[in-house]
Amino acid sequence: MLLCDFHIHTKYSDGSIELRKVVDIFGQAGFDVIAITDHVVNGDSLIGKFAHRFRFTITHKNFNEYMENIKYEAQRAWNKYEMLVIPGVEISKNYLSSEKSAHILILDIKDFIPACESYENIFLEAKKQDALIIACHPHHMRGEIRNTLYLWNNRDIYGKYIDAWEIANRDDVFNVVSLKKYPYIANSDFHKPRHLYSWKTLLNCEKDIISIKRCIKHNKGVAITLFRG
Ligand code: ZN
Ligand code: ZN
Repeated sequence: MLLCDFHIHTKYSDGSIELRKVVDIFGQAGFDVIAITDHVVNGDSLIGKFAHRFRFTITHKNFNEYMENIKYEAQRAWNKYEMLVIPGVEISKNYLSSEKSAHILILDIKDFIPACESYENIFLEAKKQDALIIACHPHHMRGEIRNTLYLWNNRDIYGKYIDAWEIANRDDVFNVVSLKKYPYIANSDFHKPRHLYSWKTLLNCEKDIISIKRCIKHNKGVAITLFRG
């Protein structure tokens, strides 16, 4: 099975490590597939404005450079480690209220999607780009003051757009996702080297982007594992 992590941050947003070094960490650890998913933060709230001010976000200005760099690193990762690197972002709608906030991974993104758009527009645009939509850390997290509960609380409205939900994020496991029998994956939400040791996804499919997206969507041949090196 393919060892995968679809939720990874770099210095392009609030990660502590440069993209190139991140690729080497995962390549040397024997991963088959990773997705780089730096934050695209909403600018229409106080917390969002703070992120923009301190450049903890991808913007439409540096999106092309971000994508070019990922493309370059993806080629290097394939040659050196036979590891597939998928370009992505984490659309981050941050508000003071946990009930209003949500984070969404867009995997295999092609064009910039602003985080201040409505949920509906974000999902439709992602579908148009044939990208995968993942609801991140959708329930209460241990030791987090600010949770991201909007999508879970509004799953009856938005569930139809979501290709899979994070059933585990780093050390947290969200049993509500299994109770609802939603398609699931597990990710590290990597920001620092120690986050390598965390929940991951195993996929029973070919190592190419089409097979991987299909496997996650159909959620057959998907497993999770607690990676400890
Ligand atoms: Zn997040
Ligand atoms: Zn994240």
